[in-house]
Amino acid sequence: MELHEIERDAAVVREFLFAGDAQVVLESLKTGTRYAYRVKRPEGTEGCYRRGHWDDRRFVTFLLEGARPLYVGALYRTMGSWTFLNLSTASAYPAASPEVRGFDHLLLLLKFHEVSRKMKIYNVGLCGRCGQSLAEEEYRAGLHSECLP
Ligand SMILES: [Zn+2]
Repeated sequence: MELHEIERDAAVVREFLFAGDAQVVLESLKTGTRYAYRVKRPEGTEGCYRRGHWDDRRFVTFLLEGARPLYVGALYRTMGSWTFLNLSTASAYPAASPEVRGFDHLLLLLKFHEVSRKMKIYNVGLCGRCGQSLAEEEYRAGLHSECLP
């Protein structure tokens, strides 16, 4: 897998992660284990109201080499800030699993405008918004310059 480290800046990581279709790999510096996720906006929800609220959701799936992705949970944006993972009966991983805890740890520190020192964060060479290939000078942001908000 082609991995490119994202700039260690909370604003850059946040923009990439929530851009709409981000494939992100978290690597534990302690164990060297890599966890691959896709953070995707559901089709047709951009700029729509649902039950009287601005609908901004992301579905998080866990990507396994050579297997179909497994559903992890949903993220919601309320009052401008993102929630932690919301698990449901469809979630393939329990709350205590490293797949859930690692991702929530990243989200927790982002809330404090920090990037976890326990992990490296990579993109897979694809833009976090449109999913198309990135040019080398765009690897640090994980987004095309024209796909930045
Ligand atoms: Zn793009």
